Amino acid sequence: MRLRNIKGSREAIASSPLVVQEPAQYKGVFQSLFHNTNPIHIEIGTGKGRFIIEQARLHPEINYLGIEKYSSVLIRALEKIKENPPANLLFIRMDAETIAEVFGPEEIARIYLNFSDPWPKDRHARRRLTSSFFLTRYSQILTLDGQVLFKTDNRPLFEFSLEQIEESGWTLDSKAYDLHHSQYMEGNIMTEYEEKFSAEGKPIYYLAAHH
Ligand code: SAM
Repeated sequence: MRLRNIKGSREAIASSPLVVQEPAQYKGVFQSLFHNTNPIHIEIGTGKGRFIIEQARLHPEINYLGIEKYSSVLIRALEKIKENPPANLLFIRMDAETIAEVFGPEEIARIYLNFSDPWPKDRHARRRLTSSFFLTRYSQILTLDGQVLFKTDNRPLFEFSLEQIEESGWTLDSKAYDLHHSQYMEGNIMTEYEEKFSAEGKPIYYLAAHH
């Protein structure tokens, strides 16, 4: 995602009650932030938040955490909900590399990865959010039946992800090479990137897998 430095975004994020500050302090007790015992679903690379905001409004029985690396992007998500923030949605500004330091074992029931950055150079493969490096960390925080759900417009990244799932000993639950014309479309919520790419006529690749 191309980034412009939005003035004051870092400060706005650091003082927002919708953003979990010092998230590692809540390791193992994230549900306490929501005052319930509902399952927690996270989206990594939440961007401007459209997907997770809509999910949260549709599913009050689930707690949602949107994780985004950049304040200048996350600020857009906060702007969308400032009038009427869903009680079951919070955000964290962090790099997902340290995710296993922030969440405890079996604390997360589902991980959404939507249109993750492709990092096309081989030497950056580890940074792809579906690399075995990340899958290992996801295993450390997912519930026993927890899943990763991944959507992308990028075929090489999709093929790479299928390989990494197999190499990491994960199990593929579903896959589609054209999500929008597949059985998995029911209940699909479009992300900002998904809307753009599908309007251009690009197929959306989709998979779900568990550890
Ligand atoms: N998910 C949104 C969508 O589908 O419209 C945004 C997609 S955008 C291509 C990828 C987003 O992931 C960017 O906002 C980027 O900053 C974020 N991101 C990439 N790597 C990340 C990481 N390691 N930790 C947290 N966020 C990350």
